[in-house]
Amino acid sequence: MVRGSILGGILSATASVLFGSRMIIAKSQKDMEKMRAVGELIAEVRETLRAMVKPGVTTLELNVAAEKMMRDAGSIPTFIGYKPHGMVPFPYAICASENEKIVHGFSNETPLKEGDIISLDMACTLNGFVGDTAMTVPVGEISDELKQLIRVTEECLALGIEQCWPNKRVGDIGAAIQAHAEKYGYGIVRDYTGHGIGRSMHEAPQIPNYGRPGTREKIRAGYCFAIEPMLNIGTPETRTLDDKWTVVTKDGKPSAHAEHTIAVTAEGPEILTLTKEQKRSLGGNSAAKSAVQT
Ligand code: MG
Repeated sequence: MVRGSILGGILSATASVLFGSRMIIAKSQKDMEKMRAVGELIAEVRETLRAMVKPGVTTLELNVAAEKMMRDAGSIPTFIGYKPHGMVPFPYAICASENEKIVHGFSNETPLKEGDIISLDMACTLNGFVGDTAMTVPVGEISDELKQLIRVTEECLALGIEQCWPNKRVGDIGAAIQAHAEKYGYGIVRDYTGHGIGRSMHEAPQIPNYGRPGTREKIRAGYCFAIEPMLNIGTPETRTLDDKWTVVTKDGKPSAHAEHTIAVTAEGPEILTLTKEQKRSLGGNSAAKSAVQT
């Protein structure tokens, strides 16, 4: 069984507890308004962090800024203390995963340096609902190889989101992501997946970043998903460090991650994790193509 993602990664036994036979929860209009509010808030945090990333900044500084912004807005940093069964509680407000780290990295005091890439994953809870988003950001000037990795990961996210229409299936999401990633020969991480989201960060269903069209659960209006491709330049295989959380590529090659929380509506996918400004620049249309902006 695929491990549930979210704070991406959870061991398989936990995945069945997290996702097991639980029903997929369709949100009411009232719930959806709360999902929009928390989505916009976490998107503002994401864009604030994006603007802070440059050589010399530490991920601990990014973590402090993110936690303050979440709390100042009246929300709770969802990751802090997050403790899947058998795990130690996650200690930070964000996951900060440099270069060969895939997900769940700990913030630290090592300054980011020119040419690095840094994946930042974050979630907060506002009025009982969770918004979850991630991006991979270049630190200063990066190689063309890394630029392509980030671009294709964002394109995979957009293509996955485009599948989120009523009556499509969860397998369609993974198939769209897989087809694009494989064109470039990237390793698609299979040990961690996207997920349903709502009052809990991890709800059913699991959303793998690979699959076959027309398989898995039927998608319905009212569902909210966190779609989150993780692509590696080399092998898709992963390894967890001694801190019990940080997931790295087995071959030490770089990895990128991009994530949006989306809602399925009768008119198609709506990206919830966009800032006010991003929504404005899209003319009020947060259709899937905007996901490329991550
Ligand atoms: Mg997630």
